[in-house]
Amino acid sequence: MKCVICKQGETVPGRVAVTLQRGETIVIIRDVPAQVCQDCGEYYLDEPVASNVYARGEEAVNRHAEVEILHYAA
Ligand SMILES: [Zn+2]
Repeated sequence: MKCVICKQGETVPGRVAVTLQRGETIVIIRDVPAQVCQDCGEYYLDEPVASNVYARGEEAVNRHAEVEILHYAA
C-alpha cells in the first residue's frame, strides 16, 4: 500500500521493533511483522498484530517493569 505519512513510499512486509511507553514503563517488542515504508520507515501493523502488541505492553505495565524487551510471538 502507499504510505500515508510521506505519501511517496510503498510499504513492503518486514519486521520492526515497536516501542510503547506508559508512564514509567517502556516496552520494546522486537520482530513484529509489519508493513514498512521503503521511503520514510513508517510502519503499519495489522489489527490482530497491533492487539497482540498492546496486550503484551499492558502485561509489562501491570508488572511495573521499567524497561522490558520482548520478542513478538503470534
Ligand atoms: Zn513513508
